[in-house]
Amino acid sequence: MSENQPNLPNAKKVFIKTYGCQMNVYDSDRMTDALAPHGYSPTQDMGEADLVLLNTCHIREKAAEKVYSELGRIRDFRNEREPGAKKMLIGVAGCVAQAEGEEIMARAPAVDLVFGPQSYHRLPELLSKAQTGRVIDTEFPEEDKFAHLPAARKEVTISRGLTAFLTVQEGCDKFCSFCVVPYTRGAEVSRPVAQVLAEARGLADAGVREITLLGQNVNAYHGLGADGQPVSLGALCHMLAEIDGIERIRYTTSHPRDMDDELIAAHRDLPELMPYLHLPVQSGSDSILKAMNRKHTAAQYFEIIDRIRAARPDMAISGDFIVGFPGETDADFAATVEMVRKIGYASAFSFKYSTRPGTPGAQMDNQIEEHVKAERLEVLQAEITRQSQAFNAGCVGLTMPVLIDKPGRNPGQVSGRSPYLQPVHIPADPGLIGQILPVEIVGQAKNSLEGRIITANAKAV
Ligand code: SAM
Ligand code: SF4
Repeated sequence: MSENQPNLPNAKKVFIKTYGCQMNVYDSDRMTDALAPHGYSPTQDMGEADLVLLNTCHIREKAAEKVYSELGRIRDFRNEREPGAKKMLIGVAGCVAQAEGEEIMARAPAVDLVFGPQSYHRLPELLSKAQTGRVIDTEFPEEDKFAHLPAARKEVTISRGLTAFLTVQEGCDKFCSFCVVPYTRGAEVSRPVAQVLAEARGLADAGVREITLLGQNVNAYHGLGADGQPVSLGALCHMLAEIDGIERIRYTTSHPRDMDDELIAAHRDLPELMPYLHLPVQSGSDSILKAMNRKHTAAQYFEIIDRIRAARPDMAISGDFIVGFPGETDADFAATVEMVRKIGYASAFSFKYSTRPGTPGAQMDNQIEEHVKAERLEVLQAEITRQSQAFNAGCVGLTMPVLIDKPGRNPGQVSGRSPYLQPVHIPADPGLIGQILPVEIVGQAKNSLEGRIITANAKAV
């Protein structure tokens, strides 16, 4: 144990269940780190927990509703424990907490503590208050939460493996008319460059080889540099690539409007920056893009993709799509399918539009019926699957560097990630875990590739 985590005789346990995006995964790790100096260590077993935290997601209705049913289960679990069992506090964090704090308190009386994403650094203080009464904290304080959160602890980072998330930007000022993020995560804020580099160095020291920079609008990053001037994401990637040990850099999620020349050039010039871009467009129809307040047209999206492919021809493009946004006609939907066909996505996520309270989309009166949304989703997903399988098929016969990061499902097998983020299964000795090796792709399964190592001695990049 480190000095950050004293070996207290009465050490407590925290069980955290994480929903939603990678930023929530990162935040859960930071909560674990913030609690460690106060005698809490993480557990996977709710039965031994002194504190149960749900880190929640509010992006779609289904995600939010799951939280209430899970809270019912946890309450029953706590009530059924033997008399005299240790006290167990229940807390709700994340975007549902931020958006529905009062409602959670009213609907779920078993909850002791509700706190939003801007309060994680105050968790120990909130917990001590929760010992004597229910606590709710969903303010957007002026202070910088990252400055108060402890850096990732080495021993925890090692157990997180060879890849890690690093939040560089949080919040959003874009206000797409379907989206809750500007309300739950607040205004767009970028972390200063020095803070990001220090965290990345710590991760590299702990053995991390690949970092994924996170932000709701990560390519809008403009953290201040040493000279007090804003630094773009492209420039930040160059600085991170200088850190010994950091061999691969990724970032997510980007907005088309913020895909600037510097970032595109970094994809051309920086071998550490992986050729994979998640660039959501949501719809291929200009009238729907306008109603969504996306602030760009379909033609502008195509033009950005062309510029990216000119800089890095093998770039794997990924995206997000929403079907059944209010007012979406058959012709609008056909334009989306046509866009998917033309782009040739390596992968993409697609969702039925979900009405989110408080967003402009929820007030629109031309809502689409559920069965129409479901039919459109099926058509779109079939097209996306065709495309991603074609992309994977195009990889067969190529040799590419694979970061071998874990044992495979079967003995004598390891598993890794291609530069394009596909899982690659390889027959090889688990002793190779941690290396980046040239792998010939010899086959494809539904969502992964099969490969064989070309030479175990070479250290390809
Ligand atoms: N910032 C990114 C962008 O500009 O597209 C997206 C971030 S959002 C957390 C992730 C994805 O969730 C979105 O790209 C969108 O496809 C989906 N999403 C957001 N709100 C939604 C809603 N109300 N209904 C269905 N899907 C939604
Ligand atoms: Fe939500 Fe992304 Fe639009 Fe921001 S840019 S409002 S995070 S969909």
